This record gives sequence, C-alpha cells and structure tokens, in this order.
Amino acid sequence: MIDMRDWKRTHTCGALRGMDAGSGVVLVGWLHRLRTHGGVNFADLRDRYGMTQVVLRDEAEMHGRSVTGLRGEFVLGIRGRVSARPDGMVNPKMATGEIEVLADEVVVLNESEVPPFVIEDETNANEDLRLKYRYLDLRRTPMKNNIVLRHRVAQAAREVLNGEDFLEVETPTLVKQTPEGARDFLVPSRLQPGKFYALPQSPQLYKQLLMISGLDRYYQLARCLRDEDLRADRQPEHTQIDIEMSFVTEDDVFALCERLMSHLFRTVLDRDLEVPFRRLTYAEAMSRYGSDKPDLRFGLEIVEVGDCLQTSGLKIFQDALSSGNTICAIRVPGAAGWSRKEIEAFGSIMEEAGGRGVLWTKAEAGGFTGGVAKHLDESCRDSLRERLGIGDTDLVLLAADKGSRVNVLLGVLRRPLAEKLGIIPEGVDAFAWVTEFPLFEWSEEEDKWESTHHMFCMPRCEDLDYLDSDPGRVRGQVYDLVYNGIELGSGSIRCHLRSLQEKIMKRVGFPAELAEERFGFLLKAFEHGAPPHGGIALGLDRLVMVMACRETIRDVIAFPKTTTGGSLVDGCPSRVPARELEELGLTQSELKKD
Ligand code: ASP
Repeated sequence: MIDMRDWKRTHTCGALRGMDAGSGVVLVGWLHRLRTHGGVNFADLRDRYGMTQVVLRDEAEMHGRSVTGLRGEFVLGIRGRVSARPDGMVNPKMATGEIEVLADEVVVLNESEVPPFVIEDETNANEDLRLKYRYLDLRRTPMKNNIVLRHRVAQAAREVLNGEDFLEVETPTLVKQTPEGARDFLVPSRLQPGKFYALPQSPQLYKQLLMISGLDRYYQLARCLRDEDLRADRQPEHTQIDIEMSFVTEDDVFALCERLMSHLFRTVLDRDLEVPFRRLTYAEAMSRYGSDKPDLRFGLEIVEVGDCLQTSGLKIFQDALSSGNTICAIRVPGAAGWSRKEIEAFGSIMEEAGGRGVLWTKAEAGGFTGGVAKHLDESCRDSLRERLGIGDTDLVLLAADKGSRVNVLLGVLRRPLAEKLGIIPEGVDAFAWVTEFPLFEWSEEEDKWESTHHMFCMPRCEDLDYLDSDPGRVRGQVYDLVYNGIELGSGSIRCHLRSLQEKIMKRVGFPAELAEERFGFLLKAFEHGAPPHGGIALGLDRLVMVMACRETIRDVIAFPKTTTGGSLVDGCPSRVPARELEELGLTQSELKKD
C-alpha cells in the first residue's frame, strides 16, 4: 500500500497555469484518458477541480507498473515538473491548457474496474444505471457542477438570511403525526411499543412554535418527507429553504424573498433580477393564464369572449351562453398559416386535459376563414377583433366549458403554443407572486372543504365574515412564488389566534376533540402570547434545477430516489431481520410478502 504521507498533493488538477512552469509538483486524481501521440504517452488526470495533461515519459519511475497496464478511472499519484506547452500546443479550452506535467514518478493509489458507462460530459447511459453507480455519475462534470451550484445557492441563501438577523435552527426529524396534506412516513417506537413517530412533511408547526418562543426570525435548510405516489418530478424527500418571521405582513415576506433571490441570481449566475416581482392575485392568474403558476415569459392570454358571440348561430356557443357556461379565447399571433392538422393537435392536448377539444378560426386581412368562421356574423367578428386585438395573420382558439374550467383548459395550451411559435425568450427570469389564494377548496372526492395550502394560514381580514356562511369566498393571506411557470415556493401569514384556528380546523374536518388530539400542543401554545407571524418555504431542489437549466430535480440531488421510492445506490427500502421487527412490536405476518 502506498504511504500517503509521501504523496501529499501540492496542487489540484485544475490549478496549474503558465506561470507555474518549472515547479516541481505532486498531483493526484483519476485517469480520465490515456493516449499515445507520436510515441509519447499522454494521461489526462482529473479531479473535482479540473483536468491536467501529464506526459508519461519512458524514464518515469512506475513502481512496477507499465503504462499499458493503466486504465481509465485508476487513481494515480504523479510527481513531476510543470512544463510550458510549446507554441501551437496550448489548449485554450482547458483552464490548465498552457502547461503539462512531465512525470518523474507514477504510483497507482487504487485500481478501478471498467466503469459501466464512460465518464464524459454527455452520456447515453440510462438513468437507472446512473443512479446505481451514482458515485461514477457524479464524477461527470455537468453532474458535479450541479452539486457545486447547489452548494453555492445554499451558502448564498445563508449569507442573506444570516445578514438579516435570522437564526438557523434545526427542528426534529421524529415528530408527532400532524397531517399536512400528504401521507406521512411513520417510524415505530421501540421504547413505547405500538406508538409511532412521523417524519416531518415540513417544519411548519415547529417554526411556528419558534416564533411563539420569541426567536423572531428563523430559517433552516429543511428536509421534508412525504410518502406520496411519485408522479411527475417529485421526490419522497426534498429540501426547502424554510423561513418564518414574527410581526410581519405579506409585503415583508415578499421583500425579503426578493432580496434573497436577487442575491442568489447575482452571486451564483451573475444575473440581475427585476424587483419588485410582479404580483397578481390567484383570481387574475386563473382567469388570464388558466393556472396558479403562470408562465409570464410570453403573452397568449386567455380572454372571455362570451358576450362577443351572442349573435352566433353555432349551437355550442348558444348552449354555453344559455346554460351560463363560459366561452374564452386565445389569440395566437401569426399562426393563421397553420394547417387544420397542426391546429387540431392542440385540440388533442386539450382533450387529454379533460376538455372537449378546441374551436378555431383564422383572422386574416380579408376576414375570418376556416373553423367556426361561417358561424360568426359581422357583429361577432367586430367585437372579437376589438376584444382580442386581432391582427392580419392570427389564429383564434376558442373553448366553452363550465366556469373557470375553460380557463384551465385553454391554459394548458399556452406553453405548447409558445413553444411552437418559438416565442419563449431565452435567459428571461419571470418571477411573480401569486396572492390571495382561496383559503379552502371543495374536494369532490372527500366531499368536504380542504385547505388550499395548509390549515395554519390566516384568512384576509375583509373575508373573515364568510368563514361560516360562504367558505369558498374566503381568501387567505396565502401566496406562492412562481418562476417561468414553475412554483418555487409557497407561504402565508399564519393564524396565531386559538379560536380562529379552531374554527378553520373545524371547517376542514377537525372538530374540537380531534383538533385537540392532533394539534393540542400548538393550540395550547397559541394561548401563551403567540405573536402574529408568517413565512414561506422555497423549494431548494427546484430552485437549483432552474438555475442549473436542468429538466428534473433528480439531476440536482446527490442521491435521489426512483419513481417507486427506491434508492438504487444502496438498495433501500430493504427487508430487516425478524428480531428487529419483534423489538418494535411488529411481526413478519403483518407485513406483505413478495
Ligand atoms: N410548510 C409549508 C409547506 O411545506 C410552507 C409554508 O407555509 O411555509 O408547503
């Protein structure tokens, strides 16, 4: 075995420059590539910091090894001298491209099997293989860069919050089961058989308790665990920049987050953000964009046009108007040239989203043509032109459905339309606050009111009277931070009054006794001088994903889980010995066998 005291590195593989020529150095790292050129062997040595070209000269001491016996991913130590590359051999694409190291001595610190995929920037290895050999996947520069970026984002966030008097406080991982919307992961207690801890879905109640403790300003890079079916881009554990502040209004939370985001984008990406971020109410977002996380990088707004179509004879329009349904439209600028097939592709997208397909007409210089044009008299045409600001080469997509459903259905088309039109600008950071979320939404499935965010949010003062009489009308002091059509964070001003909190709990299905059993500790704390407070949780994984321009959060998490909640690198979840289950008061027979 090599004594590492003899092989202390003097430089990393990314450090050497032209001015180091002549220095004696020791480098350690992985053999990225070995090639022979004009009878000379060149080795690229790689570590986290970069790559250095090493010349393996015949006279180098190889400690019983031969150059031909070296393979990719062997861990090497190189002792040698830095040499300026001759003119014409300088590689401007490499940070260390001005030099090479002439090896006097080479040791193999460890060998490597042939890796199951090549360690290059681009790979076509499937993701399961990359997850199983994650330690090799993370050696690839783009993946390593994601981890570095994540670190920088986390540290930059800490800088801002530390600078503004926030305290970083850790909240427990083993907590009381307090439903927050998703299913909990449960942990059996050995010392109290038959009882369970839950893993926290978020530190929500603890951060509120910290405000009641008088700590005033809290943050934590908190791990949140939710036992959900992992559709789309979800993970059973994700990280939030979790924030809570006392004696604040929504404006204070927004301003803090704007300072935080501006600092992150400036220090990590060298980009300036426009602040304050745009604000739009939930109602406005839903009506103009059909989504509570609108992508504001492009227009394609949804406009209600029912009243423009009063005189159209088309049955769908007449039925919609007589039954009180809504008719909305999107003007698609410059798309009058699209074929029927191209337009109907958008109808299919809408059908997949549960709609009945899309109606359309083209508005060209000579008038309206195609689709529903023949059902539009002059009055319809004039008012549509005016309402939608129709130009000479536009396509108009229309849909009719119940209430705000039509906005949601048209909203689904915005992004694909923008992509087809090629109007999504590059490098634009369209942040926005969506405010005034309803406090409750009716769940058809559960046949009851549910909280839109969670049940600890404060209603807006002006809507308090509707709590009993018209719950659907109560707006909350509840907000989301949205970026280019992605929800980056969500928060609220909290309810800090016991009686009001109990009322809200009752409304969402926790009558006094159940509320006491589940949340008694929080309700009790409210009786001991709970200050008004509020906060937000920003999703760190998603934030890093958008900053790194990646498509999935798995690419910015060191060890993510698969869609079935498994970790391929260590094989969890796994079975445990029967004896350990017995100690926990669980028996094998209670567990489903394979
Ligand atoms: N605890 C909430 C969540 O995880 C965020 C918040 O309201 O601060 O969604």
